Amino acid sequence: MNPSPSARAGRTFFIADLHLTDERPAATGRFFRFLQDEVAGADALYILGDLFEAWIGDDHDERVAGDTAERLAALTKAGTRVYFMHGNRDFLLAERYAARARMALLPDPTRIDLYGVPTLLMHGDTLCTDDTAYQNFRHRARHPLTRALLHRLPRAWRQRLAREARAGSEAAKVRKAAEIMDVNVDEVVRVLREQQARRLIHGHTHRPAQHVHHVDGRACERWVMPDWYTRWGYVVCDATGCTLRMDAL
Ligand code: MN
Repeated sequence: MNPSPSARAGRTFFIADLHLTDERPAATGRFFRFLQDEVAGADALYILGDLFEAWIGDDHDERVAGDTAERLAALTKAGTRVYFMHGNRDFLLAERYAARARMALLPDPTRIDLYGVPTLLMHGDTLCTDDTAYQNFRHRARHPLTRALLHRLPRAWRQRLAREARAGSEAAKVRKAAEIMDVNVDEVVRVLREQQARRLIHGHTHRPAQHVHHVDGRACERWVMPDWYTRWGYVVCDATGCTLRMDAL
């Protein structure tokens, strides 16, 4: 049985890679039940990117966008803080939608004090430094000029561009070696050292796990959240530590 909302204070939830779209209603339904059954009453919910399968601008008109904003706003209103960090699929999500969903936008990376442990939050795509083709694309796609141009395009054009970008990335994934699409461990150690964090929580790779990395002789945890395609799950932390929970969708 789930604890009552009042018993959930002192806990913080982390999710990523839900890839919500009207085309996969099971994941959306699971997400809304998760908010109601697990997250309600918690200290905070951190959404670390790729909440949506695609995001072409804050005029995104899928039904799931409106429904999600409503649920997240209700959560904030009830006292659970909601934070959002961009993923590679929804990096165009902006202030207008964030205000509607009453969630705070976070830069990638963000370091927080999580019940006394300096914890680094990232989407995870910037850790995949072996995938140079993707890193080049990321740089071009997020350039302010590209964004300014995209904002001026009619919605139908942006929808078509997003479809083409997704098809291109799916085709590239088939060709790339599996190791290239995982994080580069040297980069993980570098950011942990640079940010002076003892824990890292990220998604993107769809390889849920708990890892330990040694940084200057100190053991640091790395938690990778699952995607919500055929399974669902999250990382939950309290003063005693973190846990990764997963189940079939
Ligand atoms: Mn991603």
